[in-house]
Amino acid sequence: MTLQVAIVGSGPSGFYAADALLRLGDARIDLIERLPTPFGLIRGGVAPDHQSTKRVSRSFEKTALATPIAYFGNVEIGRDLTMEELRGLYDVVILAVGAPRDRPLDIPGADKAGVIGSAAFVGWYNGHPDFHDLDPSLDSERVVVIGNGNVALDIARVLVKTPEEMAVSDISEQAGQAIAASPIREVVLLGRRGPVEAKFSQKELREMGSLAAARPLVDPADLEQPIPPRLSERARRVAERNLAILSDFAQKGSAAEAESRPKRVVFRFFAQPVEVAGGAQVSGLLCERTRVLDGRVEGTGERITLDCGLVIPAIGYRSIRIPGVPYDAARGRFRNRDGRIAEGLYCVGWCKRGPVGVIGTSKADGEEAALAIRKDFTNGAGGGKPGRDGLESLLRGRETRWVDYEQWAVIDKAEQAAAAPGAPRRKFVTVADMLALLEDGARNAYLARD
Ligand code: NAP
Repeated sequence: MTLQVAIVGSGPSGFYAADALLRLGDARIDLIERLPTPFGLIRGGVAPDHQSTKRVSRSFEKTALATPIAYFGNVEIGRDLTMEELRGLYDVVILAVGAPRDRPLDIPGADKAGVIGSAAFVGWYNGHPDFHDLDPSLDSERVVVIGNGNVALDIARVLVKTPEEMAVSDISEQAGQAIAASPIREVVLLGRRGPVEAKFSQKELREMGSLAAARPLVDPADLEQPIPPRLSERARRVAERNLAILSDFAQKGSAAEAESRPKRVVFRFFAQPVEVAGGAQVSGLLCERTRVLDGRVEGTGERITLDCGLVIPAIGYRSIRIPGVPYDAARGRFRNRDGRIAEGLYCVGWCKRGPVGVIGTSKADGEEAALAIRKDFTNGAGGGKPGRDGLESLLRGRETRWVDYEQWAVIDKAEQAAAAPGAPRRKFVTVADMLALLEDGARNAYLARD
């Protein structure tokens, strides 16, 4: 019997799961997405100047066009139908909702205006409809980004790149203009531990040394931290390579460099945030110098204050809560055992594992979910639920305006057609604008272009 499968979320983990299920055989798969646009993190999380990473969406396109798959964009669980209703309609529900919320920065003053988590800030410059009206205050020379991961690197780079460097990106028009017009001269990357513990990928770290108007600054004293013997071979290699790149940065601090590249990305290791200073608005970040003992952070009592008008904690993410789905609050993900949450309910990607790993890491989750489903539904067990027909009739009854894949293609084409020279697209940043395009005659005009 054909298995009726709903995948909630059309980011990489949702698409990888759909792909794995396609290979499994007899399944009809519906991708349910709360935005009209698919691809999740690829569109809204991956840095706008990293277009090569975004190219993976081309393979997802092939998956989306496979016969057993249908796309239901602009349909939100909790708004348009409940989780209970969804599970009633489908034999299998796979949650692939990612980890779209910021981990909170738990220090005094973190609620001040001008403290903006990386999920919101990255969403804003990527034109995510949730954040198009964020309007961050960029009116200061220094910005502090807390965290030593790849997201922190992405943010720092986007803040100091020139408009010419960003011209080939798909940064939202509004964000691109606001950053270009800002007085930002320095971005501090604050690491509570040392360069050995930093979670930077080499490629992204190295990129910081080849920006047009900004140079990386590293205090050579911070690089004296020995690599601890307890590290695995792999972690040791990563630490050695990152140290080599950072040493290279530390040696290039000449006056000529400073003149040709007036902006700075300052790597400040061994400092943890203690308090956000200011009135209603941020005026600085109070930090404490640290040392690392057996991998653990220890405060030294020595305080430093970094004056700044914007603090961006890039300290990790957590998933959303869905009524009826058990949640592990400490880890910020759904409670699951190898991707199984409950009978007929599975999860993949960051909502299963937590927010670690690159795009391709979710591929294995899809394979694992497909295998678990095959095991759980052997010998014709399951099947028989209404699936897609039931969903369509429920959505019609509620007058929910869903966006199918063909309609997404209209939005996609319109964005590409509106792109500035060199840029891949000009994004719609509100759902209303996307839906308006589909409703009016522009749709036919864009379709006629091919
Ligand atoms: P991440 O790699 O886990 O880094 C989080 C950083 O925040 C760590 O340096 C962590 O320090 C620090 N941190 C956590 N809590 C803190 C606190 N209370 N105070 C100060 N610092 C704190 O997370 P991410 O950068 O959000 O990245 C998420 C995942 O996406 C990662 O796997 C990343 O590699 C991936 N990603 C990849 C790319 C790429 O490949 N180009 C781009 C973006 C993201 P400790 O280590 O001390 O905990």
